Amino acid sequence: MGSRKPRVAIFPSAGLGHLIPFAELAIRLSDHHGLSVSFISCKWMFSPRLMASYSERIASSGLDITFVQLPEVEIDGAEHMKIETHISKLLEKSKDSVVSALRSLLDSAPPISAFITDFSCSTMFDVAAELGIPTYVFFTSTASLLSFMLSFPKLVSEIPISFKDTEFPIEIPGLPPIAGTDLPPPVQDRSNEAFYWAVQHCSCLWKVRGILINTFEELEPETIKALVEGKISNTTEADRVPRFYPVGPVISSSPLEYNDKHVEDGRADCLKWLDNQPPSSVLFVSFGSGASLPSAQVTELAVGLEASGHRFLWVLRSLSSSFLSIEETELSQVLPEGFENRTRDRGLVVASWAPQIPVLSHPSTGGFISHCGWNSTLESISHGMPIICWPLFAEQRMNRILLVNKLKVGIAAKMESDGFVGREEVERAVRELMEGGDGRRVRARMRELKVKAVSALEEGGSSYKAMAAAVSEWTTNANAENSVAII
Ligand code: UDP
Repeated sequence: MGSRKPRVAIFPSAGLGHLIPFAELAIRLSDHHGLSVSFISCKWMFSPRLMASYSERIASSGLDITFVQLPEVEIDGAEHMKIETHISKLLEKSKDSVVSALRSLLDSAPPISAFITDFSCSTMFDVAAELGIPTYVFFTSTASLLSFMLSFPKLVSEIPISFKDTEFPIEIPGLPPIAGTDLPPPVQDRSNEAFYWAVQHCSCLWKVRGILINTFEELEPETIKALVEGKISNTTEADRVPRFYPVGPVISSSPLEYNDKHVEDGRADCLKWLDNQPPSSVLFVSFGSGASLPSAQVTELAVGLEASGHRFLWVLRSLSSSFLSIEETELSQVLPEGFENRTRDRGLVVASWAPQIPVLSHPSTGGFISHCGWNSTLESISHGMPIICWPLFAEQRMNRILLVNKLKVGIAAKMESDGFVGREEVERAVRELMEGGDGRRVRARMRELKVKAVSALEEGGSSYKAMAAAVSEWTTNANAENSVAII
């Protein structure tokens, strides 16, 4: 009897930075490894236009990926919560409908042999176990952050004050000591509810069967070694640790359509504009899908870019956009007066959204001012594009340390203590990257890293092998006569 093709259920967390890697993982598992995939999601989690774009792309690809749409959920008082708390609560509220979806998938053919989800869906890990489905986390960030998160419950029991108030660096296995203020904001402050959600998610990470990480061995060798060799310890005497699979970079292979004529026209315009610029001359400026800069910061960035004299393509998001929705930006209301006219011959500002992958792979693009979101970072590495690191939230300060101090493929924008970057610093950093000696060295190293990223994904490469190992485990699960009820 031939072995059964496994089906996996995939349930991401909210926000585009999660939708993209989870949807790409689904595509990769189905396309490269022949798996059947059920992609579970709920409307509130993503901008409907971008979700529709993915569903259409997948539907027309003929891949064995089906979508399971959950009923909507709401919670009261969201406006007073940090985004991490808001999302954790909405996910917790979706738990029953995820369980129902998993139950009906268990009855389908082939039944599911793995539940692949996000760490922030920790409230669901145990229910999957009760159904006899092993849980795996797809960790959409670095091995460095994962090492910290696995260590977090123990650090909390050893260090009785908020990390933001520590005067000593925090020791994390596989990483250089790190200042408490460089850790993700929700874990820095014990007085916020988001801190306790982080403790819950991090404690539960120890219970899953395996963790797929969106990184690759050549990018974070010491940290991955520390994870694999069990150098990270838990507060409870865990009798087993999850298996680790560095499978990245899992990034989009084709640009995400926005499904809106106005935005799509802008997209075409910005690629056409790039076609007319000299090679490697344009700095791409974008802060991801969730962040909007305050207006005083927009002014400093504009003045600094103008003073640098370099070409730029800037995606400017409206302040009314949120992590879960993208609103139109009225450019003339946010840019300094006359800015667009004065820079017309060498700059383009686009409202809300640009096709980041085609921009990063365009021959005219020569650098990237980025918030160091992990998807943007992997996309930049995969296209050999050096970065000016301008972290804003989440684990982005840790990503800056990796890019600037460790890998030396980025230049740090120097910030004031509140994260503000002044116009002189913008000008300095842009000139350094586009014309300075450091810029040349950083560019050369980024090109070398790109080669390593490409090799990791090729047949026989480290990430290819790691993905194949996870798939083989799911195939074994699919063919086991009695599935074992283990998370
Ligand atoms: N993105 C894009 N166009 C934009 C802004 C963002 O295509 O104008 C994509 C980008 O390519 C990346 C994702 O949105 O894949 C942003 O993810 P990241 O982890 O970098 O940041 P986040 O949005 O989670 O802060």
